Amino acid sequence: MNRILVAEDEERIASFVRKGLSANGFNPTVVGDGPTAIDYALTGGFDLVLLDIGLPGRDGFSVLRTLREANLTTPVIILTARDSVHDTVAGLEGGADDYMTKPFRFEELLARVRLRLRAADRTPEVTVLRAADLSLDLRTRRAQVGARTVDLTAREFVLLELFLRHPGQVLSREQILSHVWGYDFDPGSNIVDVYVRALRRKVGAERIATVRGMGYAFGR
Ligand code: CA
Repeated sequence: MNRILVAEDEERIASFVRKGLSANGFNPTVVGDGPTAIDYALTGGFDLVLLDIGLPGRDGFSVLRTLREANLTTPVIILTARDSVHDTVAGLEGGADDYMTKPFRFEELLARVRLRLRAADRTPEVTVLRAADLSLDLRTRRAQVGARTVDLTAREFVLLELFLRHPGQVLSREQILSHVWGYDFDPGSNIVDVYVRALRRKVGAERIATVRGMGYAFGR
């Protein structure tokens, strides 16, 4: 299922896009400001970004510039008001793949999303997941924090990959347990907590938040 990051601060539009994408078999994540859009997009865990230009914090152009400077190749479709098409053309030169003027019909957006995803399919798959200065190379199975290489056990690697692919989402102990250990592990075991603690020591405790009564969330 394709994961789509929707950076849009206008609740009505964000909700319209999110519902439409979900109904069409996509997995959307909505963020409402520029800095969060950058953090999420840079994890590399998204197949496409829908980027509003008028975002609080950092505007869409600034977000796009940051993503491209970080060599992120994820396709980006800009969402913009009809009266600023001129600016938008400049945005395309700044590394966007396409743009949509508001208001738009969902079908128009869907057609462009599908087109961009098909084009992106022909480019190599993401092999390095990132979050801020943390990166995980899926081929070498090595993690890096800044310039420091971090050795991970096999389970820690799978756990970190799971977190990096679900930035900001609360993952329950049961979800983590079934993903990292499979279903035959005792759900009453505290093995998840033990491994999260070990991973925090290696990559920085602040990256993995405990969400009381629910589980853990990476990068929030
Ligand atoms: Ca806006």
